[in-house]
Amino acid sequence: GDVTLRRVREFVWEIPPEGDMRVPARVLASRPLLEQIADDRTLEQLRNTTHLPGVTDYALCMPDGHQGYGFPVGGVAGIDAENGCISPGAVGYDINCGVRMMRTDLTYDDVRGREEELVEALFDAVPTGLGGGGVVQGDAPTVEAVLERGVEWALEEGWAVEDDLTHCEDEGRRPDADPDAVSQKAKDRGRNQLGSLGSGNHFLEVQRVTDTFDAATAEAYGLAEDQVVVLIHCGSRGLGHQTCNDYLRRIEQEHADLLADLPDRELAAAPAGSELAERYYGAMCACINFAWVNRQLIMHRTREVFADVFDRPWEEMGMELLYDVAHNIAKKEVHETSAGERELYVHRKGATRAFPAGHPEVPAAYRDTGQPVIIPGSMGAGSYVLSGGEASLSETFGSTAHGAGRLMSRTQAKQEFWGGDVQDGLREGQKVYVKASSGATIAEEAPGVYKDVDEVVRVSDALGIGDKVARTFPVCNIKG
Ligand code: 5GP
Ligand code: MN
Ligand code: MN
Repeated sequence: GDVTLRRVREFVWEIPPEGDMRVPARVLASRPLLEQIADDRTLEQLRNTTHLPGVTDYALCMPDGHQGYGFPVGGVAGIDAENGCISPGAVGYDINCGVRMMRTDLTYDDVRGREEELVEALFDAVPTGLGGGGVVQGDAPTVEAVLERGVEWALEEGWAVEDDLTHCEDEGRRPDADPDAVSQKAKDRGRNQLGSLGSGNHFLEVQRVTDTFDAATAEAYGLAEDQVVVLIHCGSRGLGHQTCNDYLRRIEQEHADLLADLPDRELAAAPAGSELAERYYGAMCACINFAWVNRQLIMHRTREVFADVFDRPWEEMGMELLYDVAHNIAKKEVHETSAGERELYVHRKGATRAFPAGHPEVPAAYRDTGQPVIIPGSMGAGSYVLSGGEASLSETFGSTAHGAGRLMSRTQAKQEFWGGDVQDGLREGQKVYVKASSGATIAEEAPGVYKDVDEVVRVSDALGIGDKVARTFPVCNIKG
Protein backbone atom coordinates (compact mmCIF):
# COMPACT_ATOMS: atom_id res chain seq x y z
CA GLY A 1 0.00 0.00 0.00
CA ASP A 2 0.87 3.69 -0.11
CA VAL A 3 3.40 4.84 2.44
CA THR A 4 3.84 8.50 3.36
CA LEU A 5 7.30 9.73 4.31
CA ARG A 6 8.25 12.85 6.20
CA ARG A 7 11.74 14.33 5.90
CA VAL A 8 13.31 14.63 9.37
CA ARG A 9 16.68 16.02 8.23
CA GLU A 10 19.24 15.26 5.60
CA PHE A 11 19.21 11.51 4.83
CA VAL A 12 16.61 10.76 7.52
CA TRP A 13 12.99 10.00 6.50
CA GLU A 14 10.17 8.96 8.79
CA ILE A 15 6.90 7.08 8.42
CA PRO A 16 4.81 8.68 11.18
CA PRO A 17 2.84 6.28 13.38
CA GLU A 18 -0.74 5.61 12.31
CA GLY A 19 -3.22 2.80 12.89
CA ASP A 20 -1.61 -0.07 14.80
CA MET A 21 1.96 1.14 14.35
CA ARG A 22 3.57 1.16 17.80
CA VAL A 23 6.43 3.47 16.82
CA PRO A 24 7.49 5.45 13.73
CA ALA A 25 9.73 3.90 11.09
CA ARG A 26 12.85 5.53 9.72
CA VAL A 27 14.64 5.21 6.39
CA LEU A 28 18.23 6.41 6.16
CA ALA A 29 18.87 7.32 2.54
CA SER A 30 19.73 9.95 -0.02
CA ARG A 31 17.01 10.82 -2.54
CA PRO A 32 18.29 8.49 -5.29
CA LEU A 33 18.56 5.57 -2.83
CA LEU A 34 15.13 6.36 -1.39
CA GLU A 35 13.62 6.14 -4.87
CA GLN A 36 15.12 2.68 -5.29
CA ILE A 37 13.97 1.62 -1.83
CA ALA A 38 10.44 2.81 -2.58
CA ASP A 39 10.40 0.77 -5.78
CA ASP A 40 9.47 -2.58 -4.18
CA ARG A 41 7.65 -3.63 -0.97
CA THR A 42 10.44 -2.45 1.38
CA LEU A 43 8.57 0.51 2.90
CA GLU A 44 5.43 -1.51 3.47
CA GLN A 45 7.49 -4.26 5.11
CA LEU A 46 9.28 -1.69 7.23
CA ARG A 47 5.99 -0.25 8.39
CA ASN A 48 4.74 -3.74 9.24
CA THR A 49 7.69 -4.31 11.56
CA THR A 50 6.49 -1.45 13.78
CA HIS A 51 3.58 -3.70 14.79
CA LEU A 52 5.89 -6.13 16.60
CA PRO A 53 5.34 -6.11 20.40
CA GLY A 54 8.14 -4.35 22.24
CA VAL A 55 9.59 -2.56 19.21
CA THR A 56 11.44 0.39 20.68
CA ASP A 57 11.84 4.01 19.48
CA TYR A 58 11.62 3.25 15.73
CA ALA A 59 12.14 0.52 13.17
CA LEU A 60 14.92 1.33 10.73
CA CYS A 61 15.86 0.73 7.12
CA MET A 62 19.51 1.20 6.18
CA PRO A 63 20.50 2.92 2.87
CA ASP A 64 21.01 -0.43 1.11
CA GLY A 65 17.55 -1.72 2.09
CA HIS A 66 15.37 -3.85 -0.13
CA GLN A 67 12.46 -6.26 0.14
CA GLY A 68 13.01 -9.50 2.07
CA TYR A 69 11.10 -12.32 3.76
CA GLY A 70 8.66 -10.36 5.95
CA PHE A 71 11.29 -8.03 7.32
CA PRO A 72 13.30 -5.91 4.86
CA VAL A 73 16.92 -6.74 4.11
CA GLY A 74 18.69 -3.72 5.56
CA GLY A 75 16.24 -3.66 8.46
CA VAL A 76 17.11 -2.97 12.10
CA ALA A 77 14.74 -3.27 15.05
CA GLY A 78 15.53 -3.04 18.74
CA ILE A 79 12.85 -5.08 20.51
CA ASP A 80 12.44 -5.23 24.28
CA ALA A 81 13.99 -8.50 25.49
CA GLU A 82 11.73 -8.62 28.56
CA ASN A 83 8.32 -7.56 27.26
CA GLY A 84 8.75 -7.81 23.50
CA CYS A 85 9.49 -10.65 21.14
CA ILE A 86 12.07 -12.25 18.88
CA SER A 87 11.35 -12.84 15.19
CA PRO A 88 13.27 -15.38 13.05
CA GLY A 89 12.18 -13.58 9.87
CA ALA A 90 13.83 -10.43 11.21
CA VAL A 91 17.12 -12.32 11.51
CA GLY A 92 16.87 -14.03 8.14
CA TYR A 93 17.13 -17.57 6.87
CA ASP A 94 20.90 -17.46 6.57
CA ILE A 95 21.69 -16.99 10.26
CA ASN A 96 25.02 -15.16 10.71
CA CYS A 97 25.48 -14.60 7.06
CA GLY A 98 28.39 -12.21 7.19
CA VAL A 99 31.74 -11.15 5.87
CA ARG A 100 35.28 -11.37 7.10
CA MET A 101 38.34 -9.66 5.76
CA MET A 102 41.83 -11.08 5.90
CA ARG A 103 44.75 -8.74 5.31
CA THR A 104 48.04 -9.72 3.63
CA ASP A 105 51.43 -8.09 3.14
CA LEU A 106 51.24 -8.70 -0.60
CA THR A 107 50.73 -5.83 -3.02
CA TYR A 108 48.81 -5.81 -6.28
CA ASP A 109 52.11 -6.17 -8.15
CA ASP A 110 52.71 -9.53 -6.46
CA VAL A 111 49.41 -10.86 -7.76
CA ARG A 112 49.11 -9.18 -11.17
CA GLY A 113 49.70 -11.66 -13.98
CA ARG A 114 48.92 -14.58 -11.69
CA GLU A 115 45.20 -13.98 -11.27
CA GLU A 116 44.23 -16.95 -13.39
CA GLU A 117 46.39 -19.36 -11.42
CA LEU A 118 45.12 -17.95 -8.14
CA VAL A 119 41.45 -18.04 -9.06
CA GLU A 120 41.73 -21.65 -10.28
CA ALA A 121 43.57 -22.73 -7.13
CA LEU A 122 40.99 -21.08 -4.89
CA PHE A 123 38.12 -22.57 -6.83
CA ASP A 124 39.66 -26.06 -6.49
CA ALA A 125 40.30 -25.68 -2.76
CA VAL A 126 37.12 -24.00 -1.53
CA PRO A 127 33.85 -25.89 -2.01
CA THR A 128 31.21 -23.77 -3.76
CA GLY A 129 27.66 -24.24 -4.94
CA LEU A 130 24.87 -26.38 -3.56
CA GLY A 131 25.97 -29.65 -1.94
CA GLY A 132 29.55 -30.42 -2.81
CA GLY A 133 30.86 -31.07 0.72
CA GLY A 134 33.04 -28.85 2.87
CA VAL A 135 36.67 -28.22 3.77
CA VAL A 136 36.09 -30.59 6.69
CA GLN A 137 33.97 -33.74 6.57
CA GLY A 138 32.15 -33.41 9.87
CA ASP A 139 30.64 -36.28 11.85
CA ALA A 140 27.89 -35.78 14.42
CA PRO A 141 30.21 -35.00 17.39
CA THR A 142 32.09 -32.46 15.25
CA VAL A 143 28.89 -30.58 14.48
CA GLU A 144 27.99 -30.57 18.19
CA ALA A 145 31.41 -29.18 19.10
CA VAL A 146 31.21 -26.49 16.42
CA LEU A 147 27.74 -25.41 17.56
CA GLU A 148 28.85 -25.28 21.18
CA ARG A 149 32.34 -23.83 20.93
CA GLY A 150 32.59 -21.98 17.62
CA VAL A 151 36.07 -20.91 16.57
CA GLU A 152 37.59 -22.41 19.75
CA TRP A 153 36.89 -25.75 18.10
CA ALA A 154 38.75 -24.60 14.99
CA LEU A 155 41.71 -23.52 17.11
CA GLU A 156 41.94 -26.93 18.79
CA GLU A 157 41.76 -28.66 15.43
CA GLY A 158 44.54 -26.57 13.86
CA TRP A 159 42.23 -24.51 11.64
CA ALA A 160 42.86 -21.24 13.45
CA VAL A 161 45.48 -19.32 15.42
CA GLU A 162 44.87 -17.38 18.67
CA ASP A 163 44.86 -14.08 16.81
CA ASP A 164 41.89 -15.19 14.75
CA LEU A 165 39.80 -15.40 17.91
CA THR A 166 40.82 -12.03 19.27
CA HIS A 167 39.89 -10.42 15.94
CA CYS A 168 36.41 -11.92 15.78
CA GLU A 169 33.24 -10.65 17.44
CA ASP A 170 32.65 -12.53 20.74
CA GLU A 171 36.04 -14.16 20.12
CA GLY A 172 34.26 -16.45 17.68
CA ARG A 173 32.09 -18.08 20.32
CA ARG A 174 28.55 -17.01 21.19
CA PRO A 175 28.15 -17.85 24.85
CA ASP A 176 24.37 -18.36 24.68
CA ALA A 177 24.57 -21.18 22.13
CA ASP A 178 22.28 -24.14 22.85
CA PRO A 179 23.07 -27.01 20.45
CA ASP A 180 20.20 -29.05 21.93
CA ALA A 181 17.78 -26.50 20.50
CA VAL A 182 19.00 -27.23 16.95
CA SER A 183 17.06 -30.05 15.27
CA GLN A 184 18.69 -33.27 14.11
CA LYS A 185 17.61 -32.44 10.58
CA ALA A 186 19.45 -29.10 10.73
CA LYS A 187 22.57 -30.76 12.14
CA ASP A 188 22.50 -33.38 9.42
CA ARG A 189 22.34 -30.66 6.79
CA GLY A 190 25.33 -28.90 8.33
CA ARG A 191 27.51 -31.95 8.63
CA ASN A 192 28.98 -31.97 5.13
CA GLN A 193 28.87 -28.19 4.65
CA LEU A 194 31.56 -27.20 7.15
CA GLY A 195 33.81 -24.89 5.18
CA SER A 196 31.72 -24.21 2.08
CA LEU A 197 30.62 -21.00 0.40
CA GLY A 198 27.21 -22.13 -0.78
CA SER A 199 25.44 -20.75 -3.77
CA GLY A 200 24.80 -17.51 -5.57
CA ASN A 201 25.42 -14.38 -3.60
CA HIS A 202 28.22 -15.89 -1.48
CA PHE A 203 31.76 -15.38 -2.61
CA LEU A 204 35.45 -15.29 -1.88
CA GLU A 205 37.15 -12.27 -3.38
CA VAL A 206 40.80 -11.30 -3.57
CA GLN A 207 40.91 -7.51 -3.58
CA ARG A 208 43.38 -4.66 -3.62
CA VAL A 209 43.08 -1.54 -1.48
CA THR A 210 42.54 1.42 -3.81
CA ASP A 211 41.93 4.25 -1.34
CA THR A 212 42.35 5.06 2.29
CA PHE A 213 40.31 7.92 3.76
CA ASP A 214 41.37 7.95 7.39
CA ALA A 215 45.11 7.36 7.72
CA ALA A 216 45.18 6.68 11.46
CA THR A 217 42.36 4.16 11.44
CA ALA A 218 43.61 2.49 8.26
CA GLU A 219 46.93 2.02 9.98
CA ALA A 220 45.29 0.62 13.10
CA TYR A 221 43.44 -1.85 10.87
CA GLY A 222 46.68 -2.74 9.07
CA LEU A 223 45.48 -1.39 5.71
CA ALA A 224 47.44 0.55 3.11
CA GLU A 225 46.93 1.44 -0.56
CA ASP A 226 47.82 -1.25 -3.08
CA GLN A 227 47.74 -3.97 -0.48
CA VAL A 228 46.02 -7.28 -1.25
CA VAL A 229 43.19 -8.39 1.04
CA VAL A 230 40.69 -11.26 0.93
CA LEU A 231 36.96 -10.89 1.56
CA ILE A 232 34.83 -13.95 2.40
CA HIS A 233 31.01 -13.80 2.36
CA CYS A 234 28.97 -16.79 3.52
CA GLY A 235 26.79 -17.96 6.37
CA SER A 236 25.43 -21.01 8.15
CA ARG A 237 24.37 -22.91 5.02
CA GLY A 238 21.57 -25.50 5.25
CA LEU A 239 21.91 -25.68 9.03
CA GLY A 240 20.85 -22.08 9.61
CA HIS A 241 18.15 -22.26 6.95
CA GLN A 242 16.63 -25.37 8.52
CA THR A 243 16.75 -23.78 11.97
CA CYS A 244 14.93 -20.66 10.78
CA ASN A 245 12.34 -22.84 9.13
CA ASP A 246 11.92 -25.10 12.19
CA TYR A 247 11.23 -22.16 14.48
CA LEU A 248 8.94 -20.30 12.09
CA ARG A 249 6.73 -23.38 11.94
CA ARG A 250 6.76 -23.86 15.72
CA ILE A 251 5.91 -20.20 16.34
CA GLU A 252 3.00 -20.45 13.90
CA GLN A 253 1.70 -23.45 15.86
CA GLU A 254 2.39 -22.33 19.41
CA HIS A 255 1.85 -18.57 19.25
CA ALA A 256 -0.97 -18.23 16.77
CA ASP A 257 -2.53 -15.47 18.91
CA LEU A 258 0.47 -13.18 18.52
CA LEU A 259 0.63 -13.96 14.83
CA ALA A 260 -3.03 -13.09 14.32
CA ASP A 261 -2.29 -9.52 15.44
CA LEU A 262 0.52 -9.00 12.93
CA PRO A 263 -0.04 -7.61 9.43
CA ASP A 264 2.21 -10.26 7.81
CA ARG A 265 2.60 -13.88 8.92
CA GLU A 266 6.21 -13.81 7.74
CA LEU A 267 6.93 -11.62 10.79
CA ALA A 268 6.01 -14.53 13.11
CA ALA A 269 7.60 -13.87 16.51
CA ALA A 270 7.98 -15.68 19.82
CA PRO A 271 7.05 -13.62 22.91
CA ALA A 272 10.03 -12.65 25.06
CA GLY A 273 10.29 -14.91 28.09
CA SER A 274 8.48 -17.80 26.41
CA GLU A 275 10.18 -21.18 26.19
CA LEU A 276 10.17 -20.92 22.42
CA ALA A 277 11.89 -17.51 22.44
CA GLU A 278 14.66 -18.94 24.65
CA ARG A 279 15.01 -22.03 22.47
CA TYR A 280 15.18 -20.02 19.25
CA TYR A 281 17.74 -17.65 20.76
CA GLY A 282 19.94 -20.59 21.85
CA ALA A 283 19.57 -22.31 18.49
CA MET A 284 20.34 -19.10 16.61
CA CYS A 285 23.47 -18.54 18.72
CA ALA A 286 24.60 -22.09 17.90
CA CYS A 287 24.09 -21.35 14.18
CA ILE A 288 26.13 -18.16 14.65
CA ASN A 289 29.00 -20.31 15.93
CA PHE A 290 28.65 -22.63 12.95
CA ALA A 291 28.85 -19.72 10.49
CA TRP A 292 31.94 -18.29 12.20
CA VAL A 293 33.62 -21.67 11.88
CA ASN A 294 32.50 -21.87 8.27
CA ARG A 295 34.20 -18.58 7.42
CA GLN A 296 37.22 -19.56 9.52
CA LEU A 297 37.73 -22.83 7.64
CA ILE A 298 37.47 -21.07 4.29
CA MET A 299 39.91 -18.38 5.41
CA HIS A 300 42.42 -20.92 6.68
CA ARG A 301 42.14 -22.90 3.47
CA THR A 302 42.79 -19.65 1.58
CA ARG A 303 45.99 -19.19 3.56
CA GLU A 304 47.12 -22.63 2.40
CA VAL A 305 46.29 -21.78 -1.21
CA PHE A 306 48.31 -18.55 -1.03
CA ALA A 307 51.23 -20.43 0.56
CA ASP A 308 51.11 -22.84 -2.34
CA VAL A 309 50.74 -20.30 -5.14
CA PHE A 310 53.30 -17.81 -3.78
CA ASP A 311 55.58 -20.51 -2.40
CA ARG A 312 55.96 -18.97 1.04
CA PRO A 313 54.52 -19.87 4.45
CA TRP A 314 51.31 -17.92 4.97
CA GLU A 315 52.59 -16.61 8.31
CA GLU A 316 55.28 -14.73 6.39
CA MET A 317 52.72 -13.01 4.20
CA GLY A 318 50.87 -11.23 7.03
CA MET A 319 47.67 -13.17 6.41
CA GLU A 320 45.81 -12.04 9.52
CA LEU A 321 42.11 -11.80 10.15
CA LEU A 322 41.17 -8.12 10.17
CA TYR A 323 37.62 -8.69 11.40
CA ASP A 324 34.49 -10.73 10.94
CA VAL A 325 31.03 -9.13 10.92
CA ALA A 326 27.63 -10.77 11.01
CA HIS A 327 24.83 -9.19 8.99
CA ASN A 328 21.92 -11.56 9.79
CA ILE A 329 21.64 -11.75 13.54
CA ALA A 330 19.69 -10.87 16.68
CA LYS A 331 21.65 -10.10 19.82
CA LYS A 332 20.71 -9.20 23.35
CA GLU A 333 22.29 -5.79 23.87
CA VAL A 334 21.73 -3.00 26.35
CA HIS A 335 20.87 0.34 24.75
CA GLU A 336 19.85 3.78 25.93
CA THR A 337 16.27 4.16 24.65
CA SER A 338 13.65 6.91 25.03
CA ALA A 339 12.33 4.89 27.98
CA GLY A 340 15.77 4.61 29.60
CA GLU A 341 18.30 1.82 29.53
CA ARG A 342 16.81 -1.39 28.19
CA GLU A 343 17.95 -4.85 27.20
CA LEU A 344 16.88 -5.36 23.62
CA TYR A 345 16.91 -8.10 21.05
CA VAL A 346 18.61 -6.03 18.38
CA HIS A 347 17.59 -7.60 15.09
CA ARG A 348 19.97 -6.80 12.25
CA LYS A 349 18.98 -8.38 8.97
CA GLY A 350 21.18 -7.30 6.12
CA ALA A 351 22.63 -4.78 8.55
CA THR A 352 25.97 -4.65 10.34
CA ARG A 353 26.82 -3.82 13.92
CA ALA A 354 28.85 -0.60 13.97
CA PHE A 355 29.94 0.03 17.55
CA PRO A 356 32.13 3.11 18.04
CA ALA A 357 35.44 3.55 19.84
CA GLY A 358 35.27 2.84 23.55
CA HIS A 359 32.38 0.39 23.44
CA PRO A 360 33.17 -2.54 25.75
CA GLU A 361 32.00 -5.12 23.18
CA VAL A 362 34.54 -3.96 20.59
CA PRO A 363 37.63 -6.22 20.66
CA ALA A 364 40.62 -4.77 22.49
CA ALA A 365 42.57 -4.37 19.23
CA TYR A 366 39.97 -1.86 17.98
CA ARG A 367 38.80 -0.28 21.22
CA ASP A 368 40.36 3.07 20.26
CA THR A 369 39.16 3.19 16.65
CA GLY A 370 35.73 1.58 16.71
CA GLN A 371 34.97 -1.80 15.25
CA PRO A 372 35.72 -2.47 11.59
CA VAL A 373 32.58 -2.63 9.46
CA ILE A 374 32.93 -4.45 6.16
CA ILE A 375 30.61 -3.49 3.30
CA PRO A 376 30.87 -5.47 0.06
CA GLY A 377 29.82 -3.73 -3.17
CA SER A 378 29.85 -6.12 -6.14
CA MET A 379 32.35 -8.04 -8.23
CA GLY A 380 32.62 -5.01 -10.53
CA ALA A 381 32.59 -2.23 -7.95
CA GLY A 382 34.42 -1.26 -4.82
CA SER A 383 33.87 -2.60 -1.34
CA TYR A 384 34.47 -0.64 1.86
CA VAL A 385 35.94 -0.90 5.29
CA LEU A 386 34.32 1.54 7.70
CA SER A 387 34.73 2.09 11.41
CA GLY A 388 31.79 2.05 13.78
CA GLY A 389 30.53 5.65 14.06
CA GLU A 390 29.93 7.80 17.11
CA ALA A 391 26.28 8.45 16.14
CA SER A 392 25.40 4.78 15.66
CA LEU A 393 24.39 4.20 19.27
CA SER A 394 21.92 7.08 19.36
CA GLU A 395 20.62 6.71 15.80
CA THR A 396 20.58 3.02 14.82
CA PHE A 397 21.09 0.81 17.88
CA GLY A 398 24.74 0.68 16.79
CA SER A 399 24.21 -0.40 13.18
CA THR A 400 24.84 0.50 9.56
CA ALA A 401 24.41 -0.99 6.06
CA HIS A 402 25.68 -4.42 4.94
CA GLY A 403 26.30 -4.00 1.21
CA ALA A 404 25.18 -2.14 -1.86
CA GLY A 405 21.84 -3.94 -1.75
CA ARG A 406 20.00 -5.61 -4.61
CA LEU A 407 18.24 -3.58 -7.25
CA MET A 408 16.51 -6.45 -9.03
CA SER A 409 15.42 -10.03 -8.44
CA ARG A 410 17.47 -13.00 -9.60
CA THR A 411 14.82 -13.82 -12.20
CA GLN A 412 14.99 -10.32 -13.61
CA ALA A 413 18.80 -10.43 -13.53
CA LYS A 414 18.87 -13.54 -15.71
CA GLN A 415 16.71 -11.75 -18.27
CA GLU A 416 18.98 -8.70 -18.27
CA PHE A 417 22.42 -10.34 -18.20
CA TRP A 418 24.25 -13.27 -19.75
CA GLY A 419 26.86 -14.88 -17.44
CA GLY A 420 29.54 -15.41 -20.09
CA ASP A 421 29.33 -11.79 -21.26
CA VAL A 422 29.52 -10.47 -17.72
CA GLN A 423 32.57 -12.65 -17.00
CA ASP A 424 34.38 -11.55 -20.20
CA GLY A 425 33.51 -7.91 -19.63
CA LEU A 426 34.90 -7.97 -16.11
CA ARG A 427 38.12 -9.61 -17.24
CA GLU A 428 38.76 -7.43 -20.26
CA GLY A 429 37.40 -4.18 -18.90
CA GLN A 430 38.39 -4.24 -15.26
CA LYS A 431 40.95 -7.04 -14.90
CA VAL A 432 38.66 -8.93 -12.54
CA TYR A 433 38.92 -12.71 -12.81
CA VAL A 434 35.68 -14.49 -11.90
CA LYS A 435 35.02 -18.21 -11.66
CA ALA A 436 31.65 -19.67 -10.66
CA SER A 437 29.91 -23.05 -10.69
CA SER A 438 27.46 -21.78 -13.28
CA GLY A 439 26.93 -18.92 -15.72
CA ALA A 440 23.51 -18.31 -14.22
CA THR A 441 25.15 -17.39 -10.90
CA ILE A 442 27.31 -14.79 -12.61
CA ALA A 443 24.25 -13.28 -14.31
CA GLU A 444 22.30 -13.23 -11.03
CA GLU A 445 25.20 -11.46 -9.34
CA ALA A 446 26.21 -9.13 -12.19
CA PRO A 447 27.39 -5.74 -10.93
CA GLY A 448 24.30 -4.18 -12.52
CA VAL A 449 21.94 -5.97 -10.12
CA TYR A 450 23.32 -3.99 -7.20
CA LYS A 451 22.87 -0.40 -6.08
CA ASP A 452 25.66 2.14 -5.93
CA VAL A 453 27.81 1.16 -2.94
CA ASP A 454 29.60 4.54 -2.98
CA GLU A 455 26.24 6.24 -2.40
CA VAL A 456 25.30 3.81 0.41
CA VAL A 457 28.60 4.49 2.16
CA ARG A 458 28.33 8.23 1.59
CA VAL A 459 25.07 8.23 3.58
CA SER A 460 26.52 6.07 6.37
CA ASP A 461 29.55 8.34 6.66
CA ALA A 462 27.51 11.56 6.54
CA LEU A 463 25.21 10.32 9.30
CA GLY A 464 28.22 9.33 11.41
CA ILE A 465 26.98 5.76 11.93
CA GLY A 466 29.86 4.14 10.00
CA ASP A 467 32.86 6.19 8.87
CA LYS A 468 34.90 5.61 5.71
CA VAL A 469 38.32 4.05 6.30
CA ALA A 470 39.31 2.30 3.07
CA ARG A 471 37.99 1.21 -0.30
CA THR A 472 38.95 -1.95 -2.19
CA PHE A 473 38.48 -3.26 -5.73
CA PRO A 474 38.17 -6.91 -6.84
CA VAL A 475 41.07 -8.86 -8.37
CA CYS A 476 39.77 -12.47 -8.36
CA ASN A 477 36.38 -13.79 -7.33
CA ILE A 478 34.95 -17.27 -6.85
CA LYS A 479 31.29 -17.93 -6.15
CA GLY A 480 28.77 -20.71 -5.89
P1 5GP B 1 23.63 -10.37 0.81
O1 5GP B 1 24.15 -10.81 2.11
O2 5GP B 1 22.45 -9.46 0.98
O3 5GP B 1 23.36 -11.47 -0.14
O4 5GP B 1 24.79 -9.57 0.10
C1 5GP B 1 25.57 -8.61 0.72
C2 5GP B 1 26.14 -7.67 -0.30
O5 5GP B 1 27.26 -8.25 -0.96
C3 5GP B 1 25.24 -7.28 -1.46
O6 5GP B 1 24.34 -6.27 -1.08
C4 5GP B 1 26.23 -6.79 -2.49
O7 5GP B 1 26.43 -5.40 -2.39
C5 5GP B 1 27.52 -7.50 -2.14
N1 5GP B 1 28.00 -8.45 -3.17
C6 5GP B 1 27.31 -9.42 -3.82
N2 5GP B 1 28.12 -10.11 -4.65
C7 5GP B 1 29.37 -9.58 -4.53
C8 5GP B 1 30.65 -9.88 -5.09
O8 5GP B 1 30.82 -10.79 -5.90
N3 5GP B 1 31.71 -9.12 -4.68
C9 5GP B 1 31.58 -8.12 -3.77
N4 5GP B 1 32.66 -7.42 -3.41
N5 5GP B 1 30.38 -7.81 -3.23
C10 5GP B 1 29.29 -8.53 -3.58
MN1 MN C 1 23.82 -15.52 3.05
MN1 MN D 1 25.00 -12.07 3.35
